[in-house]
Parts: sequence; C-alpha cells; structure tokens
Amino acid sequence: MVKDDYAIEQFRKNGYKITPQRQEILQAFMDNNNNQPLSAEEVHRKVVERYPNISLDTVYRNLNVFLEIGIISKLSFREGKSRYELDLGKHHHHLVCLKCGLTEVIDYCPFKFLEVEKIEEEKKFEITKHSFEIFGYCQLCRERPVEKSFNKSVSC
Ligand SMILES: [Zn+2]
Ligand SMILES: [Zn+2]
Repeated sequence: MVKDDYAIEQFRKNGYKITPQRQEILQAFMDNNNNQPLSAEEVHRKVVERYPNISLDTVYRNLNVFLEIGIISKLSFREGKSRYELDLGKHHHHLVCLKCGLTEVIDYCPFKFLEVEKIEEEKKFEITKHSFEIFGYCQLCRERPVEKSFNKSVSC
C-alpha cells in the first residue's frame, strides 16, 4: 500500500492514526499520474472505487487533516474551485493555463530574489511562507484555433 515515509511520519508526529480511509485518500494522490491537482470530488471518485462506503464529507474532513499536517496543499487558481495536490516537502510553484486549466510544476522559486528581510523590516511582518502562481496559456491552447462557439451570444 502507501509507502510514503514522509507522509506516514507526518501522521505520527501530529498524533493522527493512519486509518484505511486516509490510506486510500493518500493512495488516490499517489496514483494521480497526470499530476494535475485534484478536487475533493475527484479524490472521492477515486477512493470510492476501492472503498465504496466513504462519503464526500469524510473525504473533505480527511483532506483538512492532510492540510493540517502539511502533506497536501490547497490550490484555488481555477474558477475559485479548490484543488489539492500532494506536498511531500518539496517546495515548488505552478504554471497555470487560463484556458484549459493545465497546471505544470516548476521547481524554480522566484521568492529567493525578493529582499525578504527588507520587506519584513519595512512592514514589521514576519514572513513564514508564500504562494506564487504564474498564469498564461499552454502550448496546446496557443496552437488551437479559436473556437467559434466561444463568442456565441446567449439569447433568452
Ligand atoms: Zn491550456
Ligand atoms: Zn517559492
């Protein structure tokens, strides 16, 4: 089953049991081969295949536990809908396509070019973390001809 030591360690450190439901949810993220962040509904759909009794509510509750112990992050750059992805201690950012929603991970962190200490000093603010996304259009969307239906006017 789930063999991620980092995730298991985080459960233990925070005093959470690794229940079968949590294992299945974690597995859903690990099986997510296309690496696109998952919505709670998508996680639920995957988990239900192996754990038919689990409710969407339970998935939400457990996603919050995962967030709390820091093994997933919540992203909300698409239509305000929250998506989640595994966050196993490797810092990264995303390129996000505004048209099709494709997200691509970049290991590069622009934050290191900011004068963090200066900002902290000026604003009297202690910075502990940051989030940063880059928006634009992916190669496919840029090559795809403009769809006619896109500009269709709606009549009542
Ligand atoms: Zn795209
Ligand atoms: Zn960063």
